[in-house]
Amino acid sequence: MERAEVLIVGGGPAGSACATALVAAGCSVLVVDQQRFPRDKPCAGWITPEVVERLGLRLDEYSRNHTLQPVSRFRIGTIGGRAADVDYGAIVSYGIRRSEFDVELLRRSAARVALGERVSEIRRAGREWVLNGRLAAPVLVGAGGHFCPVARHIDGAPPHEALVVAQEVELRLEGALLEGCRVDPERPELYFSRDLRGYGWCFRKGAYLNVGLGRRDRQTLQQQLEAFLAWLVREQRIVAPRAGWRGHAYLLREGAGRRVGADGVLLVGDAAGLAFAASGEGILPAIVSGQIAAESILETKDAAAEGALGRRYAERLAEQLGRPARPRSRPGALAAAAGGVLLATPWFARHVVLDRWFLHRQGAPQPRGRAPSGHENQAGCCSAGAGVSAFAAALRRRRRANHSRTVSGRGPSRYV
Ligand SMILES: Cc1cc2nc3c(=O)[nH]c(=O)nc-3n(C[C@H](O)[C@H](O)[C@H](O)COP(=O)(O)OP(=O)(O)OC[C@H]3O[C@@H](n4cnc5c(N)ncnc54)[C@H](O)[C@@H]3O)c2cc1C
Repeated sequence: MERAEVLIVGGGPAGSACATALVAAGCSVLVVDQQRFPRDKPCAGWITPEVVERLGLRLDEYSRNHTLQPVSRFRIGTIGGRAADVDYGAIVSYGIRRSEFDVELLRRSAARVALGERVSEIRRAGREWVLNGRLAAPVLVGAGGHFCPVARHIDGAPPHEALVVAQEVELRLEGALLEGCRVDPERPELYFSRDLRGYGWCFRKGAYLNVGLGRRDRQTLQQQLEAFLAWLVREQRIVAPRAGWRGHAYLLREGAGRRVGADGVLLVGDAAGLAFAASGEGILPAIVSGQIAAESILETKDAAAEGALGRRYAERLAEQLGRPARPRSRPGALAAAAGGVLLATPWFARHVVLDRWFLHRQGAPQPRGRAPSGHENQAGCCSAGAGVSAFAAALRRRRRANHSRTVSGRGPSRYV
C-alpha cells in the first residue's frame, strides 16, 4: 500500500493549487491522474489577473517557454447581430494554453504524482480512504473535474440544472487558417446566442486560435455551433476549422450545488461545480477552492477537529467565491430580444458583461446597490437572458427608487 497524508484525484488547476499549498506546508501529498502530462483539456484558456496573483506566477518567466497572450480589448456582440468594441487601454486578462499551463502548475507543486492511473475504486477502510486498492490516506481531495469519481462517490451524478455543455477546437494558425483569421490577438471576441442560453468565442493566443461555443442546452449545442461557425465565415472573422473539435461539460455554481465535503473528503474545482455562473470562468474558482481546501486541511489536521473539515471548507468557499447564484428560468422571447440589443451596446458590453460578469472589476455598477463582492456569482452570460432581465429589472427598481429620492431631494442615481 502506498501512503500519503493527502490523496488528490486530478492534476488540473484545482488539484495542483491544493497540492502546492499542502507541499509548501510540509504535508505528504500524492496526486493521481488518469492522464500523463502534458495533457490537454478542452478550454478557451482565458484567465483573469487574479489567477496570476493567486498562483504567484512570474509572467516574464512563464512567457519565455509558454504561450501567454495579453488581452486589453474585447469584441462583444450577438451571433448574427451587431458587435461592440471595448478597449481598456491596459492588460485586463491573459490567454494561456491548457496543455502548457496545467503541466507547469503540477510541476511547480513539487507533489509526488501517480500519472496514467485512473481511479476506479474508492473505499473507506477505518480512518483511511483507499483508492484502487493500493493508495491510502486519511484525507482525500476530489479534483477530477466534471466526471470526478470522488464527487460521484460522495454525491452521486452531477445535477443537470446548472450544466454547461461546450465544444471547442484549438489549432495552430497556419496556411489558410492564418490567412483567413481577422481576430486580433489582443482582442478576444464573444458572441451570444440569440436565445441568450450561451455564447461562442474566437480567441487568438499567439500562434494558436481557439474557437468554441458553450450552452446551457445540450439538445441544441451542435445546431447552434454550426450556425455560429457559418456566421463567423460569412462575417469573414475566421476560416471555420473542420477537424479537432472536442466536447466537454461543467457545472456552474448555481442553485443547491454539490455537496463539497464529507468525512475526510473535500471536492474542489469542477468536481465541486464551482464555475462562475456569470461568465463560465472555471480556472479561478478551481485555484481558489484548491487553496482553501489546503488551508482547511492544515487547520483541521488534529483528529479532534476532523469533523469540522467539510464545514470549515464550505464556509470559506462561500466567503471567497460568494454564495451560489440563484437558479434562473429560461429567458422569454422578450428578454432575449431586449438582451440581444443590450449586449451589443458599448456601455452594457463594458460595464455589465465585461466589468461585472467577466473581469470582477471593483467599482462596476451594482444594480442592487450592494457593495461589489469581487466575484460576481449571479446569473449572467452563461445564462445571459436571465442576467439581462435581472439587470433590467434591477435598473427599473433603481430608477423608481431614485425617482422618489430625487423627489424627496436626495439626489439622482449614478446609473441613469
Ligand atoms: C470548452 C470549455 C471552455 C472553457 N473555457 C474556460 C476559460 O477560458 N477560462 C476559464 O477560467 N474556464 C474555462 N472553462 C472551465 C475550465 O476549463 C474548468 O473549470 C477547469 O478546467 C476546472 O479545473 P479542475 O482542476 O477542476 O478540473 P480539470 O482541469 O478538468 O482537471 C481534472 C483532472 O482530473 C483527472 N481525472 C478525471 N477523472 C479521473 C479519474 N477517474 N482518475 C484519475 N484522474 C482523473 C483528469 O484527467 C484531469 O487531468 C472552460 C470549459 C470548457 C468545457
